Amino acid sequence: DSGDFDREVASVCPYCGVGCQVSFKIKDERIVRVDGANGPANENRLCVKGRFGFDYVAHPHRLTVPLIRRDDAPAKGLNVDPANPWTHFRQATWDEALDAAAGGLAGLRQAHGGASVAGFGSAKCSNEEAYLFQKLIRQGFGHNNVDHCTRLCHASSVAALMENVGSGAVTATFNEIENADIAIVIGANPVENHPVAATYFKQFAKRGGELVVMDPRGQGLKRHATHMLQFRPGTDVALLNAIMHVIVEEGLHDRQYVDGFTEGFDAFAAHIRDFAPEKMAELCGIDADTIRTVARKFAGARAGMIFWGMGISQHIHGTDNSRCLISLALLCGHVGRPGTGLHPLRGQNNVQGASDAGLIPMFLPDYQSVSNVQVRDMFAGIWGGPQVDPRPGLTVVEIIDAIDRGEIRGMYILGENPAMSDPDVDHARAALARLDHMVVQDIFLTETANYADVILPASAWPEKTGTVTNTNRQVQMGRPALTAPGQAREDWAITVALARRLGLDWTYDHPREVFAEMKASMKSLDNITWERLEAEDAVTYPCPAPDRPGAAVVFGDGFPREGGRAKLTPAQVTPPAEVPDADYPMILITGRVLEHWHTGSMTRRSGVLDAVEPQAFCTLHPRTLRAKGLQPGDLVRLTTRRGSVEVAVRADRAVSEDTVFLPFAFVESAANVLTNPQLDPFGKIPEFKFAAARVEPV
Ligand code: SF4
Repeated sequence: DSGDFDREVASVCPYCGVGCQVSFKIKDERIVRVDGANGPANENRLCVKGRFGFDYVAHPHRLTVPLIRRDDAPAKGLNVDPANPWTHFRQATWDEALDAAAGGLAGLRQAHGGASVAGFGSAKCSNEEAYLFQKLIRQGFGHNNVDHCTRLCHASSVAALMENVGSGAVTATFNEIENADIAIVIGANPVENHPVAATYFKQFAKRGGELVVMDPRGQGLKRHATHMLQFRPGTDVALLNAIMHVIVEEGLHDRQYVDGFTEGFDAFAAHIRDFAPEKMAELCGIDADTIRTVARKFAGARAGMIFWGMGISQHIHGTDNSRCLISLALLCGHVGRPGTGLHPLRGQNNVQGASDAGLIPMFLPDYQSVSNVQVRDMFAGIWGGPQVDPRPGLTVVEIIDAIDRGEIRGMYILGENPAMSDPDVDHARAALARLDHMVVQDIFLTETANYADVILPASAWPEKTGTVTNTNRQVQMGRPALTAPGQAREDWAITVALARRLGLDWTYDHPREVFAEMKASMKSLDNITWERLEAEDAVTYPCPAPDRPGAAVVFGDGFPREGGRAKLTPAQVTPPAEVPDADYPMILITGRVLEHWHTGSMTRRSGVLDAVEPQAFCTLHPRTLRAKGLQPGDLVRLTTRRGSVEVAVRADRAVSEDTVFLPFAFVESAANVLTNPQLDPFGKIPEFKFAAARVEPV
């Protein structure tokens, strides 16, 4: 009813990578309702976060003035009250705060070199903001120490995709499941983490599609699955190699496709000969008959898709896990046709776009390598110099370690919360406290902002203009529904102001100018203009012509690798970095819950979401609870080699008896106090999905 609101604004949900289009209904300069809009990824649907998770923008904790750490502030620590920060910080003017922010970083640059400063950008900001952020670090400090949360999310998936198909993005939209006969969903829990995508998966199953769910935890898709393979945590490679063993052993692979579009088959086939299902069954906890049945069905289907999430990527063998999934699709010819494809479900609303925009230490925009001299020459030309450093920079966890070694002394952090999201987070917090100068740009005084020297008040997603790219490669237009509160500013404008104070000759007046510059170096944006996005709201890349839609499915006629062929890369079984023992007999798995988003800074300040899920919890199997003499609601202490947290326990048959699940959104029982910072050697992603743990009654 239009009488209920003053105006409506078409934009995009700020939470997950599905990228639902929304219609904000505004009354008296407040968002009073959010409806789903008819976007390509959501067709009017929204989940509970998209519908109810918006009152955080008006929360009293919003940062509305720039802050500078007081000279007499207590020692840095997780000790600032966001409602009353005045013991630690004083209010400053924008000029004063920007001078302090830039002055501190420039001082480190002069005294210790540009590599003494690193940047964490944000997958919650727009494409233009991500582009400007990486440009500021590269152009302003002369190196590539710039990263963002993709490192903690799908870095290993991207590493495997780049290696084996030549592109880091999905090969098909998730909506393509409509054209599939079979779909594998592995290491992903879309009912909670990509809820609108999950509605398409459920519809697929209801119309008779074979839905194969593989996950160490039971989950919401289980009741829609034709096959549920609840395998033992960390045994992904063994299970997937066993499936591929059957396909090759029984000659079920698509020989014509393998011959025409792939390389490395002979060595690959020899490698998986050792992985007979009968040998892998005990390790995986899945019987050989089930493995053979799934293999035959996937290989025999006309069109199959594979979806995966962080259950695949967040392991020290995350890249090997993704290599297996890529090989499985290639062996069966399930790439490049309608209803086929590889789809790592992206986490944040703009983690795809921020990665495309170059917010990663080894790639400039569009995954163009910093080590390629032609690429560096091109960017030096577009940016007006200097040439970018040819050495890949440090990743998120490596930056924290470099702070420990005294190599990184200053940071600029935009919209990221490493004091909650990094593994072994007590270690990360101690490192942040050690920095000589830290600039945080955010909408709340986050756990990370507790350690800042200067805090710059920024804009929430419904307050900014910019484009955003979802898991489907759909570039979408975000429009401001509200003005930012108090003196808060749009993030792109803050980064520009900071860059100018750092001596860069930046003259951008609007994000559309940034988008135009991005197009000069990013072929992925060919035929996608700002004006087109304003008119059409979303365009999928790659797009063949200014008046044609983009491609839902790619690589039908070859891959962007030398010779046009994809690669079959064998993967060995690597055990988790630590395995249960007498002191730590259980397995800790961390993850998300439907109502809360990542570190909770937004959703825990959204009334409905916080009311539904107000406090931290972990889950144990009912039999494990009984064995430990626990009741649901009791407090337990979870301990790993990194630390301990206390948290209330719930009963949940979805976890196996030797496993405890802990969501990571709750600061009072921060899951990352416990997690293992060991990294996958290729994607440099930590092993969030497996730690040896002890569970005790308190
Ligand atoms: Fe937002 Fe994702 Fe929910 Fe869509 S599915 S409304 S993008 S959180």
